Amino acid sequence: MDLYKEIWEKIVNSDNILLIAHVNPDGDALGSSLSLYPVLKKMNKKVTVFNASKPLPQYLDFLPNFNKITDRLPKKIDLTVSFDCGSFDRLGLPEKPSFLINIDHHISNTNYGDLNLIEPNAASTSQVIYNMLKANNIEINKNSAVCMYTALVTDTGSFQYESVNEKVFEMAAELVKCGVSPDYVAKMLFQRDRLSRLRLLAKAYDTIELCCDGKAAFVEVTKEMMEITGAIKEDTDTIVNSVRAIATVEVACLLREEDEGIKISLRSKNYADVSKIAVKYGGGGHIRAAGATVREFDFQKVKEILKNDIKEIL
Ligand code: 5GP
Ligand code: MN
Ligand code: MN
Repeated sequence: MDLYKEIWEKIVNSDNILLIAHVNPDGDALGSSLSLYPVLKKMNKKVTVFNASKPLPQYLDFLPNFNKITDRLPKKIDLTVSFDCGSFDRLGLPEKPSFLINIDHHISNTNYGDLNLIEPNAASTSQVIYNMLKANNIEINKNSAVCMYTALVTDTGSFQYESVNEKVFEMAAELVKCGVSPDYVAKMLFQRDRLSRLRLLAKAYDTIELCCDGKAAFVEVTKEMMEITGAIKEDTDTIVNSVRAIATVEVACLLREEDEGIKISLRSKNYADVSKIAVKYGGGGHIRAAGATVREFDFQKVKEILKNDIKEIL
């Protein structure tokens, strides 16, 4: 039996289902988790959508059933399905669930589930879900479609990345047929900016430093910048993408001060595999987008180390 069918059968035969995604969730994490909610409710399942992070990103609050997401685990769980999460520790669960299905598209996925549906070529985890629903002839309603489409838009940088192909547009077209309005999703995602975010961008862009003949760029966000501008964590999300957009840059790196150390967000444009660097520091991700947290608080020190790592992948 193929994996799409095997997973669907396991879902059909379970009553109390937990849907979960990685901590510090993005559009694909929450969009994917919420996309199955209406489908499973219609099948009369008891469904909990869990995320360990608090607060959740406000820019995703338009996703249907966003208010159902909880950071409290129910007592009874027969089946846990994780989305968009490359390693078990990034789920923020206190212990290993009784049965875990791992649905994802990270090349670095550690296959931590009892069943693992990993499609590294998929543009988003929502595309993997879409493939599974299609293979099982499951009808997609408008609320599910909005969630899957949002996940697709956010993980492809609005249909810009190398993962975008004919299949991605076919999926998008199908979701529009299911009732998604692309301009509504775009306005919800990109036209509700916070002034504090722009103030933070101004400060962060001031720290941009180029090296390796302009092929690499660093940008910093300190706790002080966050406090002065009143910005929140999600306000830092796009900074590294904008720095990568500098014409000469192949690898961009955001360093963000956190309680545990410095969080690094890496992006590449054409050829460098930044997941190699992230994995080296206990993180992970994709070839063109990856991240990790380094247990060190000195920005200069971290930059010096990373410069050497970047030289190796350039
Ligand atoms: P971002 O830089 O936006 O936080 O993340 C870029 C990509 O790398 C995402 O796919 C994200 O899931 C992954 N990623 C970011 N930080 C970590 C980390 O600490 N561990 C792992 N395994 N993946 C990460
Ligand atoms: Mn993600
Ligand atoms: Mn993803």
